[in-house]
Amino acid sequence: MSERCERCRRGFSNSAPKDDVEWLTDPPGAWRPGADELYVARCKRCGSMLLDRWHTDAETEGKEHHDVAVVLHDAARAAVTERRPAAIAAVSPQLRRRHLELLVDRMQLEDRESLERIERGQTEATEAFRGLVAHRLATMTPAPPIGDVLPRPAPSFFSTSGTRLRIDLDAGTRLTLELTRDVWWLTRVRGDAVEWRAELHSAGREALLGAVSMPDGDRAVALIAAPTAGEQGELFVVDVATGAVLGRSMHRLRAAPLELRALPSGCIFVATFQRFAVVRGDASVVCEGGAAAMPVAAPVADGVVLIDAPWRLLSLSLPSGEQRWSVPIDRSAAIAPSRDGHVLLSTGDAVARLDVRGPTPRVAWIASGHTPLALDDGGAALVRDRTDKSTRRIECAVYTARGERRQTISRPDANKAPTAQLSTDVLLFHSGGEVAVAAGEHIVYALSLPDRRTAHVTLDVGGAWVSYDGVVDRIASDGQRVGRWRLG
Ligand SMILES: [Zn+2]
Repeated sequence: MSERCERCRRGFSNSAPKDDVEWLTDPPGAWRPGADELYVARCKRCGSMLLDRWHTDAETEGKEHHDVAVVLHDAARAAVTERRPAAIAAVSPQLRRRHLELLVDRMQLEDRESLERIERGQTEATEAFRGLVAHRLATMTPAPPIGDVLPRPAPSFFSTSGTRLRIDLDAGTRLTLELTRDVWWLTRVRGDAVEWRAELHSAGREALLGAVSMPDGDRAVALIAAPTAGEQGELFVVDVATGAVLGRSMHRLRAAPLELRALPSGCIFVATFQRFAVVRGDASVVCEGGAAAMPVAAPVADGVVLIDAPWRLLSLSLPSGEQRWSVPIDRSAAIAPSRDGHVLLSTGDAVARLDVRGPTPRVAWIASGHTPLALDDGGAALVRDRTDKSTRRIECAVYTARGERRQTISRPDANKAPTAQLSTDVLLFHSGGEVAVAAGEHIVYALSLPDRRTAHVTLDVGGAWVSYDGVVDRIASDGQRVGRWRLG
């Protein structure tokens, strides 16, 4: 294979390739609004293929942008002019994401076998290209309707907000909270039958509802906002089995979403955006506080560790609420519960595993990285962003509970962080329209949606459901896709 010429090595700065090129498509024409197209030229000096993405503003006359990708590869011509999937796979490491999307838009789709090999990872390709092919195959292939097999979230908590709220507890059972003639009714319904109905006395007109599993049964927590701004709202704790109202209290919690977490001694962590409360089983308030975003709490043996504004890490005994210790931390700090009385504390570009059981917190290990995911064995997966010689490299480093590095998953073209562990060595990555699953160091499932669309991931026992563009993929706990259905 030849070398790139001086000009192609340097790259092109926002202009269409001009000198010493042969256009293999028509060159970009006169300016017109809202164009986003790919043109192909060949460099006569070095033979590189030049993919010129021409992008024009939707309104401002004359405003345009050229983004040129240079491809030098034996398969380049088949990739960029004939658009053969296997050829695009071979050159995919030399292409940027948007160029790939435009190539995939007009890719040859007849050779199903090649496409399926790419989807399964049997053909060498970047994860971005593989994910785009997976999306293309999913939306062009007929799949059976999903029918009764519906993705459901893991039964830890669910919540909704408004004046008619509903949460599904399990197959056929739901809780509804509804304002009818100035009275709030919380109702448990199985099929069409009402199992119980509880009246919640409040003058408020807006509510949040959630449910949480406690060791002695499920509890529903209803937050009803104060009728006028600035006043306190009301919080109710209700036994989901019987409908008994176990207690009510006042709160200053605010807007949706609502998240609930079971804490030791029958206490519940109730979090809304930027505000939290810890309440006992009878709804009495242990403490209330503020956070920079969505509050997080880590349960420990007989208490809880949480971040409270203005920015300290705080350990409380439960159910008394007595403070054990507090340490000042950075405003950007975040915690995630880890096993055996530990938390992962991340600040800026470092993550520490802290033992929070004793009279003061103790650092077990510290590593560079961010966006930690706590793993079942007490370890953590961290994202590390490194720049060597102007190349940005993203990797996911997996550490054991003792701080030994177990493996590294290289993520050259991904911006997603680890969001869930499906089984011991299987991690799920998700952000927006990008989903990937790694088993050990290998990517075993990749999905990439074009045009900034969003994929929804729902975890449950034994794996995950990924839904996007009317399609649902079932991912087993070993990371393999084991089913594909169409939403009705
Ligand atoms: Zn050249």
